[in-house]
Amino acid sequence: MLMQEYIEEAEKALLHTYNRYQVVLEKGEGVYLYDMEGKKYLDFVSGIAVFALGYGNREYNEALKAQIDKIIHTSNYYYNVPAIEAAKLLKKVSGMDRVFFTNSGAEAVEGAIKAARKYAYLKDGKTDHEIIAMNHSFHGRTMGALSVTGNPHYREAFEPMIGNIRFAQLNDFDSVMANVNEKTCAVLLETVQGEGGLYPAEEDFLQKLRKLCDERDILLILDEIQCGMGRTGYFYAWQKFGVKPDIMTTAKALGCGVPVGAFLMTEKVGQNSLKAGDHGTTYGGNPLACAAICKVLELYEKEHILENVRETGAYLEEKLDALAAEFDIIETRRGVGLMQGLVCKEPVGGIINKAMEKGLILINAGSNIIRFVPALIISKEHVDEMTDILRECLSER
Ligand SMILES: *Cc1c(COP(=O)(O)O)cnc(C)c1O
Repeated sequence: MLMQEYIEEAEKALLHTYNRYQVVLEKGEGVYLYDMEGKKYLDFVSGIAVFALGYGNREYNEALKAQIDKIIHTSNYYYNVPAIEAAKLLKKVSGMDRVFFTNSGAEAVEGAIKAARKYAYLKDGKTDHEIIAMNHSFHGRTMGALSVTGNPHYREAFEPMIGNIRFAQLNDFDSVMANVNEKTCAVLLETVQGEGGLYPAEEDFLQKLRKLCDERDILLILDEIQCGMGRTGYFYAWQKFGVKPDIMTTAKALGCGVPVGAFLMTEKVGQNSLKAGDHGTTYGGNPLACAAICKVLELYEKEHILENVRETGAYLEEKLDALAAEFDIIETRRGVGLMQGLVCKEPVGGIINKAMEKGLILINAGSNIIRFVPALIISKEHVDEMTDILRECLSER
C-alpha cells in the first residue's frame, strides 16, 4: 500500500484523538527518521522527549532482544532481577529511596497523588486533603492526572475531576500561600513546564516551596517526566537547585521507547504512605521494561549524556537566540538544556508543516511555541543542520 492509502486506513480505524502529520514513519537511525517512502528527516522531537539515545542504538536493542529470549513478563507478586537492578540504578541517579514502576507518565502521577493522600490520611484519618497544582501544567490524560493539569480546556468536558485540587501560579509564591490551608497535603509541579510553554521553575520559588512544605509537613511532588532523564543537563532538573522533592515522577526517556514510568519517594514517605494492597499494576516494572531502564542508565554514563546536553544545549540556545534576534515573528527563546522553545507572535503550525516538507521534524507546545526536545546524543552539526532548515522556513513565510 502507498503511504497515502495507509493514512486513509488509519483515519478509518484509529480513534481520531490526534490531528496527525501526514506521514507514516517507518524506521530510525541515530537522530534521523525515515518515512515509508524513504524520505529522511532530522528529528528534533524524539517521540516527545523519549528517544534520548537516538534510534537504533545497537547495545540497547541487543539488551532488549536478550531479555525477550529470557522472559518478558512475570507479575509483581514475584521478584525479578531487571526490576531490582533498575530500582537500584534509579535510586542512585535520583537520590530518592523507594521506587514504584508504572507503564506511563500519567500513571506515575496517579501513584504520586495516591501516595500523598495516603500519607496525609495516616496522619489525621481525614479524607478531605487538598493538593495545590500549577496553572499551565501538564501531568497526563487519566482522570487523576487530568485533575491536576492546569489547563481548563483539557478538563472541561470530563468534569467532575477528582476533588480538592487548587491551582496556583508557577514562580509566584504568594499565589501558593493564598491556597495553603490545614488540609493541604501536597504541592505538585513540573520542575520545568513542558507542554505549558517551557517555563522553568525558579530557584527562589522552589526553595520557598521546600521550606513551606518542611514547616507544615506538606509533600513536595516534582513531575520530572519531560524535564528529567538528563534533558536539562542534570539527571533530574531539581538537582541543579538541590531542592529535593518528597515524591518525584519520571517516564518518557526512562525506557527510551519501551513504555515505562516510575514514581519515587523518600524513605520517610515510603514508610508512611502506600502499603501492601494499596496500589498495583499488572505490567508496571516488568522484566522487559526494566531491562530497558538498566541499559538506558548504563548507556547514559558510558555515552556521557549529561556532558553532551550541557555542551550542545548551550550551543542550541545560542543558535535559537540568533534566530530570535533575526526574525520578527519570534518573541523570545525559553527553556533549559535540550528542552527549548521559540515563543512566536502567531500560531506555528504553518512553520512546522513547512519544516516537515524540508525534512525536519519539530513540534509545538501550545499554539505559539516551537518546541525542541531532540535526542540527547545530538551534536552541534545537527543543531546547525536544524537551524539552517528552520531559517529557510522562517524566511519563506
Ligand atoms: C508527557 C507528560 C506526562 C504524561 O505522560 P504519559 O506517558 O503521556 O502518560 C506527565 N507529565 C509531564 C510533565 C509530561 O510531559
